[in-house]
Amino acid sequence: MLSSFPCPVCDADRWQPIDEFHYGRSDEIPTSLGTLREYVGLRRRVLFEVWFPDATELVLHTVLCKACGFVAFSPRPSEEDIDAKYRFLQREERDIGGQKPTRKAQQEDAKRAERIYRSVARHKGNGPLRVLDFGGGNGKLLTSFQSRGHVCHLVDYTLEPLPGIEKMGDTLDQLPSGTTYDVILCNHVIEHLGNPRRTVRDLASLLEEGGILYGEVPIDVWGGVDIRHDPVTHVNFFTPHSFELLFAKEGLRILKCRQIGGTYGGGKIYATLVLAEKHGDDLIEALPRGPEQALRMLRPTVWMRIVRAWRLRRFPGVAGLLRRLGISRRTLSR
Ligand SMILES: [Zn+2]
Repeated sequence: MLSSFPCPVCDADRWQPIDEFHYGRSDEIPTSLGTLREYVGLRRRVLFEVWFPDATELVLHTVLCKACGFVAFSPRPSEEDIDAKYRFLQREERDIGGQKPTRKAQQEDAKRAERIYRSVARHKGNGPLRVLDFGGGNGKLLTSFQSRGHVCHLVDYTLEPLPGIEKMGDTLDQLPSGTTYDVILCNHVIEHLGNPRRTVRDLASLLEEGGILYGEVPIDVWGGVDIRHDPVTHVNFFTPHSFELLFAKEGLRILKCRQIGGTYGGGKIYATLVLAEKHGDDLIEALPRGPEQALRMLRPTVWMRIVRAWRLRRFPGVAGLLRRLGISRRTLSR
């Protein structure tokens, strides 16, 4: 575990403390977590059996990069610590990565696949594309590309890719040398990595000139960064600015950066998406983004809360309102 580390996004070494979280080896996992208790209990074992095997009590501090607004906790797991976590979880937990989706989750995944396809297609025209999903589970987010005849590859530990999607390996170094892609997807992966810059660099190096990298991460910086129950699953906490900076720092041109009410495993989550393009060797000046956005998101105003609830569809739209009022389309057309 690293007690001192530069910002994994911008390399600065100026951290502002946000919060501290205390954990004890003999702490009970709260019953209020319901069905999540087993999940959280296993992560707690990672904390005390893998990351801090000698500790009975420990404190983790959440910290904000004063230069870019990225949030981490300290001590921070090294890349070796993250590998050790996955080895432990693979041994102890068989259903990693949600391999048994519910019907609702499958429908939401299909919608997500279509949304991703459309935002990429706007920039890539109609030609046949070579598309890679890095860390994409069984390839469920490639279905909208696959059904339109694009070549779909997958790099993931999954054993069962969907029909029509070719698994190329568990990791990027198993790709044949010289392999390139027009589009690479990387969804809900980067928040788990010890060295996110290196992964973005590796993905960028696989892109054709003019190729597109599509990344999505959850926004966990909201009214604080809550690692009270689970400081093990996510180790990188991005704001939209720090997430786009991650791509810009690797020389990619940002085409789009948006906050969305996304879906994940059938549930609604708030996320940031970035669409970035490989664009010559010009060094693109990193965006002069400060930590202001992160500080605002740590203490959101009422208006920010309303916008977020709207994006997460916590308020009904017109159709939802009519439904709640018992007015169906059929009633209206009578
Ligand atoms: Zn930074």
